Amino acid sequence: MDFSWSEEEKLWRNTVRDFAQKVIAPRVREIDTEERIPDEIIKGMAELGLLALTVSEEYGGMGASWTMATIAAEELGRADISLAVPVLYLVEAAWGFIFDRYGTPQAKEEYLPKVTKGEAFLGIATTEPEGGSDILGACRTKAVKEGNHWVLNGEKVYISGVLESLRWGGIHLTLARTDFNPEAGHRAFTFFAVPLKDTPGITTTRFIDMGRMGISTGGFHMDNVRLPEHYMVGELNRGFYHAMEGFTAARVLIGATCIGATEAVLEMGIEHIKQRRAFGRPLASYEGIQFPLVEHYTNLERNRLLVYKAAWMLDKLYKEKAFTHHDTALIAAMAKLRAPIDGFAAMNEVADWFGALAYTKEAPIEMGIRGIRSYSIGAEGAQNIMRLIIAREILGPEYLPYRQ
Ligand SMILES: Cc1cc2nc3c(=O)[nH]c(=O)nc-3n(C[C@H](O)[C@H](O)[C@H](O)COP(=O)(O)OP(=O)(O)OC[C@H]3O[C@@H](n4cnc5c(N)ncnc54)[C@H](O)[C@@H]3O)c2cc1C
Repeated sequence: MDFSWSEEEKLWRNTVRDFAQKVIAPRVREIDTEERIPDEIIKGMAELGLLALTVSEEYGGMGASWTMATIAAEELGRADISLAVPVLYLVEAAWGFIFDRYGTPQAKEEYLPKVTKGEAFLGIATTEPEGGSDILGACRTKAVKEGNHWVLNGEKVYISGVLESLRWGGIHLTLARTDFNPEAGHRAFTFFAVPLKDTPGITTTRFIDMGRMGISTGGFHMDNVRLPEHYMVGELNRGFYHAMEGFTAARVLIGATCIGATEAVLEMGIEHIKQRRAFGRPLASYEGIQFPLVEHYTNLERNRLLVYKAAWMLDKLYKEKAFTHHDTALIAAMAKLRAPIDGFAAMNEVADWFGALAYTKEAPIEMGIRGIRSYSIGAEGAQNIMRLIIAREILGPEYLPYRQ
């Protein structure tokens, strides 16, 4: 066992940190207030290869390993504690990988080079008004083949990057029911690449989120949307499985962005408690302050180990088939379960140390609290769904509540 970083990994971390601290960190309040990521940041990310970096070089990506992608996610979280830039990064890294793996060459040629240049957005759309956790039960979107086209009808909600997709163009990998036999179960769904901009039959909505304001959340309605058949992504009726693969990867990157942001906020807290004095001594000298700090740092380190173990397993899974998807999904779910919850708790603690200042927009902590809450509420899977995955792997699928 070897916990050290390779020279290449160290260099990559330093490169991303240097960029993120110089270019992104000073503009986080502006990103939060203006509710968009400045073009110069997108351009800089594209130049560094940070956009959909897991996509193969053939389509403009870096073919980066999951370990490298996770390092970048951690550094982006450290720089943008509101988590807007990290969301844009990780959605494209995880779902760009799935599109590259399963999309048709023609559709990939059309979109991936633009995504990696920051000229198009690539997102994921599985959630519907009836629910996000129970995709099987809630998915009402239908796709029916008509000649050499697919016709989609339905609605997706709480979707990241809808405004970005309208501004830049791009696609959302959209899950639709394609087998209407009630016995079809998980084998009833297929992924499609749905361009939102200028597509007849698409109408969009917007939600005003509480946090991560720099990237939009919206919805779209599909009314007889006609897609050429090469926009089908992956195998017919295997969309559920492709979605689970993407979620596992995304959850690892989410864990990493959360540990980056959590450490950044803890560091702000440490600086503050060393300087701020009460009753004649620095706050840092009181055990009432020290002991929670110790707990939060220990959680952070535990979560970092989970995140990087999951990234390492993803690499082993794709390069050597050394693990199954289930093995990897288990550790990824643990990382996604703990990193947002522990991160939120740590940020809340730091807010206490800052006193009234934390409750103002003079201090950045409130952006972190609002941003990280998106991940414990549900983005890329609610926490109880992480618990269901973990319980399924520990106890066996026969104990899943919906199988009883
Ligand atoms: C900021 C943000 C961005 C998002 N971006 C996207 C996106 O880009 N694309 C996309 O498709 N979706 C996106 N989502 C939606 C996200 O995937 C869903 O919120 C998530 O899957 C949960 O679905 P839901 O919100 O419908 O809650 P529900 O599924 O209705 O769940 C509500 C609550 O019930 C709990 N619950 C559900 N089932 C069980 C059970 N069996 N046992 C115990 N508890 C249970 C859940 O843990 C949750 O707490 C985003 C969400 C947020 C908050």
